[in-house]
Amino acid sequence: MTVEETLKSVIRDVPDFPKPGIIFKDITPIMLNPKVSEEILDHLVELYKDQHIDIIAGIESRGFLFGFPLAIRLGVPFVLIRKKGKLPYNKISHDYELEYGTSTIEMHVDAVKPGQRVLIHDDLLATGGSAAAAAHLIRKCGGEIAGFNFLVGLDFLEGKTKLKEFSNNIINLAT
Ligand code: 5GP
Repeated sequence: MTVEETLKSVIRDVPDFPKPGIIFKDITPIMLNPKVSEEILDHLVELYKDQHIDIIAGIESRGFLFGFPLAIRLGVPFVLIRKKGKLPYNKISHDYELEYGTSTIEMHVDAVKPGQRVLIHDDLLATGGSAAAAAHLIRKCGGEIAGFNFLVGLDFLEGKTKLKEFSNNIINLAT
């Protein structure tokens, strides 16, 4: 089986979560299966080991699950991008629009150094709003967006279009 087939076989569609009409992709069965988790991680390492990634940024909270192990395997630092009010030290923040209202994400000021090539990782790409906000935040620190990685991309929402202004290197392991 390819990694995409493996992912599709374990990710669970949950109808009407968190709202009626939405089919939520539940990735938690991946973590119940260490063999599948290892296969995904090995695949990610192969994809990125020669891309000169200096640092990986994971988007709260499911972006931490594979982002941090990937950083360890690549031998690079990992930075947490979190919702407002969660990080303890000095932060920079970015406000962005949601379907209804706005949201703010934050990162520690000293996590990304100017000129570093940052890979942004999250579990799932939907509209691209979260990943684009993360890219803005990293640019505020002088970081360069080396690419985006997601375990799953919901193609019909065209999130990739929103991310192309930052990088064309956008990889979804499954759709
Ligand atoms: P976007 O900002 O691209 O519209 O939404 C992506 C963000 O929302 C990601 O942080 C992702 O974790 C979360 N998300 C939205 N829909 C789903 C879903 O169906 N499954 C999972 N696992 N996460 C989702």
